[in-house]
Amino acid sequence: MMEMIIPEIYTRFYCKAGDCQHSCCKESWEIDVDADTADYYFQVTGELGKLLKENIGQNKEGYHIKENSAGKCPFLRKDGLCRLVAELGEDSLCDICALHPRFYEVMADKDLELGGVGLCCERTCELLLENKEPLQFCFDEAEDRLFTFEELLEKLGIILKKEELRFKPNIEKEYVQWVLSCLGKTEPLDDQWTTHIMDLQNRVDEVRAKLTSATSTAPWALFDKIYQYILYRQLEKSAKVSARVLVVYAHLNTEFVLLDSLITGDLPEALRRWSGQIEYDTDNVDMLLGISHDHGI
Ligand code: SF4
Repeated sequence: MMEMIIPEIYTRFYCKAGDCQHSCCKESWEIDVDADTADYYFQVTGELGKLLKENIGQNKEGYHIKENSAGKCPFLRKDGLCRLVAELGEDSLCDICALHPRFYEVMADKDLELGGVGLCCERTCELLLENKEPLQFCFDEAEDRLFTFEELLEKLGIILKKEELRFKPNIEKEYVQWVLSCLGKTEPLDDQWTTHIMDLQNRVDEVRAKLTSATSTAPWALFDKIYQYILYRQLEKSAKVSARVLVVYAHLNTEFVLLDSLITGDLPEALRRWSGQIEYDTDNVDMLLGISHDHGI
């Protein structure tokens, strides 16, 4: 049986539901609904059944939940809870809603699966940043066999230099400008992202001054964790993409989260926002990996 590796934080994840400030149900994402769940939804009767029929769309790719005029899931209640869970139970959720923000990537060449919880989720960011202890991993949910990121790479046969295992900020103006220009080329999730990046680009001297003064005070242990977790999520590509490219990608994105957090003063939100914009858009990830490849050679 294929073994699965997960970060230790996966074992402690739970959805904050009504307590979540940035609920994924408000994110203007088009949620695909698997065919079995769509069939079930179409058989629901009563007022909820009517709402389901009105709000499950279909196109050539399959079924999806239509967002409402405010860009939210139409089944999100005012108290932040899901109406489908409340009235039909947890098992009524489609595969995507039931799994989110968990991810699973198969490394066929290693006969392994890498699992995790995505950083676009408020709770994942809280778990990752709750302490400065090093990131740890385990097999399945067997927490008695914890191992470090370095040990994980050894198990996967991925060789990095010692200095590539940790994050070191680059304060050169040219690099800061390059990072902001790379993020500026990504397909925006919304207009706010575009405005935000332009604002950072216009304030590059201020951003760099904050970065320079932060070098002695910033919580670098947290940025090591962010860097390693960003790298971890892309390790499944290591059969096709060199470790050097993955390192450049992880550094570029961690540096962006750092710069953004220095300006906004809100590291968890800078991380969550970045992840939703980049990690949840495969075109953006591929583009940044391409840029990382060109930069790394
Ligand atoms: S963002 Fe995370 S914690 Fe918040 S509602 Fe979604 S899954 Fe739950």
